[in-house]
Amino acid sequence: MTIARRRFLAAGAAFALTPRMAVAGEGSRLTFRGSMEQGGLVVGLVVPGAKVSVNDLPGLVSPAGIFAFGLAYDCAAPVHVVAKFADGSSESSEVTALARQYQVQNITGVAEHFVSPSPEEIERMQREHALVVEARKHETDGVGFAEPFDWPFPGILTSEYGSQRVINGKPMGPHLGVDVAAPEGTPIRAPADGVVTIADDFFLEGGFTQLDHGHGVSSCCLHQSERKVAAGAKVARGDVIGLVGKTGRATGPHMHWGLAWFQVKLDPSRATRTPLPPAA
Ligand SMILES: [Zn+2]
Repeated sequence: MTIARRRFLAAGAAFALTPRMAVAGEGSRLTFRGSMEQGGLVVGLVVPGAKVSVNDLPGLVSPAGIFAFGLAYDCAAPVHVVAKFADGSSESSEVTALARQYQVQNITGVAEHFVSPSPEEIERMQREHALVVEARKHETDGVGFAEPFDWPFPGILTSEYGSQRVINGKPMGPHLGVDVAAPEGTPIRAPADGVVTIADDFFLEGGFTQLDHGHGVSSCCLHQSERKVAAGAKVARGDVIGLVGKTGRATGPHMHWGLAWFQVKLDPSRATRTPLPPAA
């Protein structure tokens, strides 16, 4: 049995050149594509028939040998990936996320009940949060995540992933998604093929739609004025799934766009094939 060990330490210069299409381990039986920064969605490829574990947990591998894992916003320890091949040999790699600097963002003018909710509203938020957590537990066999994502619409990036939020003077948790502003009613398109797991109106999130892209990878759109797809529907990349609004905790029309690998919230702006197209 042969065991090959490799180590990928994301190098700032190399990834600055091609942040979205970085490839590590080319030519080997275990390769990675995607952003290897904190918040990155990493798409792995092994020879078909191999079994893969990520930090000792077995992961789903598609018949074509595709798998996924995510690098958390504060991920500091190397992620250990082991591939065991049909011939009995194995290969292991360590992926160390490139550390990022996050900004502090002050936001004022948010309706006070969103900042200091009532006990009933807290209960509602917890109930809705539990639905999202539950939907993110599933590992399905779709491979919509395997190709880089498309932006759901052109717009203006108003809040980056990882920003430390201070809302109406009150420190909140990090902002683990991106906010894209566009006129109310702008169509929101599915960023990749998937299945709708949640389409509902939530307290904080407003008009909320979550898509399952397979292998634990999901994306969600918040604050929609209208939802155009229902839970259980299959969507193709580019299908209109809703309209931009300002429902829930929002100070103006925008979409909060989230990406996750199971419960690990990732940066969708690092999983797209292009930078955000400007608003028309
Ligand atoms: Zn947001």
